[in-house]
Amino acid sequence: MNPKQALEFSKDQHCEIVDLKFSDILGMWQHFSIPVSELDENAFDAGIGFDGSSIRGWQAIHASDMLVVPDPNTAVLDPFTEVATLSLICDIVDPVTREAYSRDPRNIARKAADYLNNTGIGDVAYFGPEAEFFILDDVRYEQNQQCGYYFIDSIEGQWNTGREEWPNLGYKPRYKEGYFPVPPTDSLQDIRSEMVLTLEKLGYRVEAHHHEVATAGQGEIDMRYLAIQEMGDGLMWYKYVIKNVARRHGKTVTFMPKPVFQDNGTGMHVHQSLWKEGKPLFAGDGYAGLSPLAVHYIAGILKHAPALAAFTNPTTNSYRRLVPGFEAPINLAYSSRNRSAAVRIPMYQTNPESKRIEVRFPDPSCNGYLAFSAMLMAGLDGIQSRLEVGDPLDKDIYSMSREELAEVPSTPSSLEEALEALRNDHEFLLKGDVFTEDVVETWIDYKMENEVSAVRLRPHPYEFTLYFDA
Ligand code: GLU
Ligand code: MG
Ligand code: MG
Repeated sequence: MNPKQALEFSKDQHCEIVDLKFSDILGMWQHFSIPVSELDENAFDAGIGFDGSSIRGWQAIHASDMLVVPDPNTAVLDPFTEVATLSLICDIVDPVTREAYSRDPRNIARKAADYLNNTGIGDVAYFGPEAEFFILDDVRYEQNQQCGYYFIDSIEGQWNTGREEWPNLGYKPRYKEGYFPVPPTDSLQDIRSEMVLTLEKLGYRVEAHHHEVATAGQGEIDMRYLAIQEMGDGLMWYKYVIKNVARRHGKTVTFMPKPVFQDNGTGMHVHQSLWKEGKPLFAGDGYAGLSPLAVHYIAGILKHAPALAAFTNPTTNSYRRLVPGFEAPINLAYSSRNRSAAVRIPMYQTNPESKRIEVRFPDPSCNGYLAFSAMLMAGLDGIQSRLEVGDPLDKDIYSMSREELAEVPSTPSSLEEALEALRNDHEFLLKGDVFTEDVVETWIDYKMENEVSAVRLRPHPYEFTLYFDA
């Protein structure tokens, strides 16, 4: 759509309000609205002013006045407002220099796509995230004066403690067995279907939805792959739709990577492939049907994985998921079979067009624009440096000796470790000015201060169990 078509669409849909959405650096949508009378063709070029100083991670900008510039291609009817509302995703522009703001994640995704083009390696990178989530009836916390709040055990959309279903009709998904019995054990079928239909109305193609392994109302909806910035937008819509459909049903959703102790966490496997002039570049006759280029791409992902984790697994909670025993990968290796490997090559389709790799360590607490961009940059670095990988990890890891396993590097064990890895390894992100030194530093400082230290400084609830009577 061009600006004219977006305005026509708005008129056809009888929109009275225009909602302007943009992502903060952490990947949360922020928004403000204007009456439709305030939107003309010129606004798509000149932009609309707002005060950017109170947006997380953007404080350092001296002039707090900023512009949102709506992207007419993103015009849709917001599915959750009672007043007919035209929704537009915006880019952030400095009003003085008129330059795209370097800390705008959507801008970073656009630059990553441009960089791919400029390398001549390919002209499009496709990303297909499989973001999981928990749908819950309420958020039941145990309160502790020292620590604030924390989650306690839960079953199928209900927190277990303090709320009994009566009469108890049974059909509770068993512990770690939510994947995937039919209703009534799966009590969230219709709500996920409604999420899917809403995404389809917004123009997203959805491939499947299902209950996930964890008992506590865990689900997954898979959108069809898209190019990097489009999928960045797509993941924003995905979270918005899932949270708001749940809210419509009096339920709540979390994308937190490990909300429930001893049950599966919430991952976001990311399928990815490179294309040039309509031809898939990852298909070949090497291991698992991969091309040499795809192997270099994998090598880049594995080499930079500890630093990538700072963007793909960016919360302190992310590292409670990356532990053995819950289908979350911890081995920085690749395999066509082994789901404990960080990179898997799916084998269920054999045509070259569907040849792709699946990076399994990311989780949906990430900012999609940044996580996809960082992975693309790591993969491209692997291709440019012609990095090689060792043998695939095709053995059953449970049959491997401690010594053998110790040779396989692992994902970082804490956010702090990942941020340190990023501090020491980010040259690959700076190529083509995709990530700037300022973005990397801001990210590390923000996460260290507001998350790593903030968590470390608070007594943990379990410490009371361990030490209160010491
Ligand atoms: N929930 C698992 C994870 O934490 C993934 C399960 C699956 O999709 O196979 O990554
Ligand atoms: Mg899954
Ligand atoms: Mg998967």
